[in-house]
Amino acid sequence: FLAVMSHEIRTPLNAVLGFNSLLESSPLNPEQLSWVETINQSGRSLLSLLNDILDFSKMEAGELSLCPQPIPLKSSVESVVDLYRQAAAERGVELRLQLSPQLPDVIGTDPSRLRQILVNLLSNAVKFTHHGTIQVAVSVSAANPAGNSALLNIDVSDSGIGIPPHLHHRIFKPFSQADASSTRQYGGTGLGLAISQRLARALGGDITFTSEAGRGTTFSLTIRAELVGGYSFPSSGSASKPSSTLRVLVAEDHPHNRDLLTRILNSHGIKPDLAENGHDAAQAAMHKPYDVIFMDVRMPGMDGLVATRLIRSGLLGLRPPRIVAVTANAFDEEKRNCFEAGMDSVVVKPFIIADILRELQIVSGQQT
Ligand code: ADP
Repeated sequence: FLAVMSHEIRTPLNAVLGFNSLLESSPLNPEQLSWVETINQSGRSLLSLLNDILDFSKMEAGELSLCPQPIPLKSSVESVVDLYRQAAAERGVELRLQLSPQLPDVIGTDPSRLRQILVNLLSNAVKFTHHGTIQVAVSVSAANPAGNSALLNIDVSDSGIGIPPHLHHRIFKPFSQADASSTRQYGGTGLGLAISQRLARALGGDITFTSEAGRGTTFSLTIRAELVGGYSFPSSGSASKPSSTLRVLVAEDHPHNRDLLTRILNSHGIKPDLAENGHDAAQAAMHKPYDVIFMDVRMPGMDGLVATRLIRSGLLGLRPPRIVAVTANAFDEEKRNCFEAGMDSVVVKPFIIADILRELQIVSGQQT
């Protein structure tokens, strides 16, 4: 019911906000402009409430979907902290970010969900702190003896109003705030932490907190993250790594996906060549003996299937590259088409880092 309702409200709200922004750019006197700005702000808080309700109802229905992918850890946290620098400075509150020196460059997790949790913790910290300091401390520890998965810990500490002990049990309950006057004074709905804790659990971790009324609060987020790039903890044995001498071509028209694959490969010391369509990929493959080609299937102009056929027919007798289809289409028919065109394996988007490493390891293994 909540999911349907929030969808139904979103449609008219879209028109309200859209026409309001048109109105804003029409000739208005200063008083009317301030009314338009109020409509805008109220509309936006309604939208964010709807998003929260939708998220929450999805979680209740067990329909929360996660999209894990490799992300640059430091800059992902920094970009959220940066969002709050101005608001903290305006209150005279110092905002510090402390990154442990041992952080891996890249981790595998769902970036938008991690961001959503951090945004919630930081916006609360800023909202409930009127002087002093807010500190975000990021560290990792090994999640298993093999050391190939990590527990990422992010503590958000503030010297704000704190939460009195008798209200601690309410904090993660949906629609509940520490005390009833909070809504009047600070706004908010009491959904943020309920959602954040469920998200943290879905990401293999949890959120806990310690707080002292009048002195401040520390929320500790832990999530389980995949380790990428051969990172290993100092005391652990290192996993079998793909060879960094592999010659790899990435053929992908979408710049973000191209960048993503490049980052994963770079984190293994591999500098791939890049192509934006099938034609360029086929040309490149005729001139350089690649070990692996990651081939997007749908590309403008010549697609990945035609390019693969061309490469296979043009390189008869030469050592063939491993061609890995990268496709957003998970249907069997698509996979069949890929194999028929001469591809060796299929990776379905959204892929996880392990999918890409597996392909590299297969080729590294063949070479040794
Ligand atoms: P909202 O902030 O929208 O009210 P949340 O679920 O994020 O909802 O937070 C629930 C309640 O927990 C807040 O209303 C507030 O009473 C308390 N709280 C959360 N973070 C802090 C904090 N950093 N310091 C003090 N109280 C907090």
